[in-house]
Amino acid sequence: MAGETVDYYPMWKSLDMDTEAHDGLLGAVGQMYGDMFLTQHNRPKSTSYLDNFATNLHSGRIKEMLDAKEQGRIKKIIGSFCLYVPEEIVAAAGGVEVGLCAGADWAPEEVEKHLPRNTCPLIKGFTGFKLGRVCPYIESADLVVGENTRDGKKKGYEFFATQKPMYIMDVPHVRTDETKQMWRNEVHRLAERIEQETGQKITADSLRRAIKETNDKRRALQRLGRVRAADPTPISGLDSLLITQAAFMDDTPRLTAAINAIADECEQRVAKGEGVAPKGAKRVLYTGTPMAVPNWKLFNIIEKAGGVVVGEECCTGSRYYKDLVDEGGETVDEMIDNVADRYLNIHCAIFTPNQDREQDVIGMAHDLHADGIIDCSLSFCTIYEMEAFGMEAAAEKAGFPFMHVTTNYSTEDAGQLKTRIEAFLEMI
Ligand code: SF4
Repeated sequence: MAGETVDYYPMWKSLDMDTEAHDGLLGAVGQMYGDMFLTQHNRPKSTSYLDNFATNLHSGRIKEMLDAKEQGRIKKIIGSFCLYVPEEIVAAAGGVEVGLCAGADWAPEEVEKHLPRNTCPLIKGFTGFKLGRVCPYIESADLVVGENTRDGKKKGYEFFATQKPMYIMDVPHVRTDETKQMWRNEVHRLAERIEQETGQKITADSLRRAIKETNDKRRALQRLGRVRAADPTPISGLDSLLITQAAFMDDTPRLTAAINAIADECEQRVAKGEGVAPKGAKRVLYTGTPMAVPNWKLFNIIEKAGGVVVGEECCTGSRYYKDLVDEGGETVDEMIDNVADRYLNIHCAIFTPNQDREQDVIGMAHDLHADGIIDCSLSFCTIYEMEAFGMEAAAEKAGFPFMHVTTNYSTEDAGQLKTRIEAFLEMI
C-alpha cells in the first residue's frame, strides 16, 4: 500500500520497524482490501476517499503526522486503545490521538510467551504488532494511554508498558454520583499528564476548538448513519465501518469534510432510490465488540451473502458518534467536566448494569428498519459473551430475529460463519 512516488522505507526504518515483515503485512491487507472493498458494486463515488485513506494508512498518514511534529504543528502523538480516552483533551494540548487497536493476528508465538493463549484477539493483536514492529502508529506514538476496562486489557497493558511509555486511566464500572465525580477527576488528571507530555497548556480557546472539531466529526457520522435507514440503503456496512475506523486515525477536519461529502452523495442517492444493495436486501444491525482495521471479515461475509449492514452499535460504530460533548462551559475546568460527562455515557459492557446498551440496539434496529440483529463477540471477551444472553432476550421481546456469533481474526471459521449467516438471512 506504499505510495508510488514517495519512498517510505527511510521513515519506517527511522521508526525501527521490521520493514520486511511489514511488507508482508501490507501485501496481505492490500489483497484483502481489494477482495472485500473493491469488489463491491454501486459504491458511492465519494468513497474513493476511503480507498485513498487505506492506501496511505501506513505511509502518507504517518508521514503527515511526523512532518507536522517536526514542524511543531503538533507536539506529540498519543496512542490509545479505547473509546474512553478523550481525543478532545489530547487535541487541546497540541497532540494528536491515534487508535492502536489491531484487527489482525501477528507473531502469535511471540505473544504467547507473554500472554495466555486464551486472550482476546484484539489484545494479542496489538501486542503482536508491537513485538513484530509492524505498526507505524504504535512505533510513532510518544505515549500510550491505556485504561482499566476489560481484565485482559488491564493486565495486557502491564506487559505493553515494558515496551512503550504508558499512562493508565481508571474507568469506573458503575454510574453513580460518586463515580461521575471520580471520572471527572480522572479526565482532569489525564489533561495534566498530556500537558506535561506535550509541554502545552490547555486553554479555554484550544479546548473549545477541539470540542467543536470533534463534535463536527461526530455530527457528520450521525448524518451518514441516518441515511442508512433508507431502502435501498445508499452505502454498504463495509464502507461505513471503515469510515468509523478512519475516525481513530485520520486528520479530523479533512475526514469530517470527506464524511459530509459522502453523506451528500448518499442523500442524493436516497432521493433517486439508488442503493448499494437491491431494494429489499436483508438488513442487519450489528452489535458487539469493536472491529479494528483490518477486521472486516464478518461484514464482508454478511454483505457478500446478499445482506446489508445498516448500522453498528459498537465502539467502531454508533458508540463513537451518537453523543456530542456539550459545547457550553466557559472555563477549562467546566469544559473538561463536559468532556468527562459525555464519555461516561458510553455503553460498554464493562459497566454494570448495562441495559442502556440493549435499549440503544433495539432503538437502532427500529430506526434503521433492521430485519435482524447479529451480535458478535471476539473470542474470550467474557463481558460481551455474557451480555449476549440479555441482548437476545431484548431482541426477542422487540420482535427482531437475533444471532450471536463468536469469532476471532483467523479465516478458519469463515466457511462456517458463511453457512450460519446465509441461513440467518434466509430466515429473517
Ligand atoms: S468495547 Fe469497551 S473496552 Fe473495548 S474499546 Fe469499547 S469502550 Fe473500550
